[in-house]
Amino acid sequence: MKLDTYCQNTWCPGCPNFGILEAVKRAISELIEKDGKKRENFVLTCGIGCHGKNVDYLNLNSFYGLHGRCLCTAQGMKLANPNLKVIAFVGDGDIYNEGICHLIHAAKRNSDITVLVYDNRNFALTVSQFTATSPKGFKGSSTPKGSIEEPFNPLELMIASGATFIARGYALKIEHLKDLIKKAIEHKGFSFVEILQPCITFFDNRKFYEERIYELEEKDLSLKEKTLMKIRKWDYSDGEGARIPIGIFYQIQKPTFEELVLRS
Ligand code: SF4
Repeated sequence: MKLDTYCQNTWCPGCPNFGILEAVKRAISELIEKDGKKRENFVLTCGIGCHGKNVDYLNLNSFYGLHGRCLCTAQGMKLANPNLKVIAFVGDGDIYNEGICHLIHAAKRNSDITVLVYDNRNFALTVSQFTATSPKGFKGSSTPKGSIEEPFNPLELMIASGATFIARGYALKIEHLKDLIKKAIEHKGFSFVEILQPCITFFDNRKFYEERIYELEEKDLSLKEKTLMKIRKWDYSDGEGARIPIGIFYQIQKPTFEELVLRS
């Protein structure tokens, strides 16, 4: 299915954002062509950052949100029309710094939306300030001598907040990422996909990831303690011994926010 638009692409040549865009296109195309979902029922929203340009490059209904606030828009869309498949594109600076309260509460109430986090571990669009997932020692324009802060683990935050689908993918494993995105969209409830996305201009950690990433087996997805053990295999530091699992970590079913609101 053709989902391209006429917009000129302004990402840096070779940016792994291209890989994510391709994975999103394949996932949505399959849901429409093979699984019979209606194109008009998909709606996109985004925050501010390099990731936000995705909505310009996909020929689907969309709405540009405010920095860190697009999950408010996403939840409003879903509540107004529960037939929609609402997909929110957000960045790490956008949602782990600016809008973290919205992320926590959307997960807590199990809003039936899909959140794709383009985590390049810096505010890339504004020329590289550190974010909540930048490793300690990260040198950017606001931390020229290196960040003194430890990063946090967003997956751990999401399981504590009540997300019912938690996954992590890698921008340059496109077919694997496509499968994760498709399952996240099909999940009924709050689905969260953290996407490790090297920023080749400001934080090119492709080699670090590619030496450490491995795919999880999909089992024990509803057991919180086991999920936490898997999540804690990597703490977002850049230690030499780290191994980084990708795949689906957690999935359970429970009533969604919209079901509860519209039933009452
Ligand atoms: Fe991609 Fe980084 Fe360039 Fe943004 S600044 S388009 S994330 S390579």
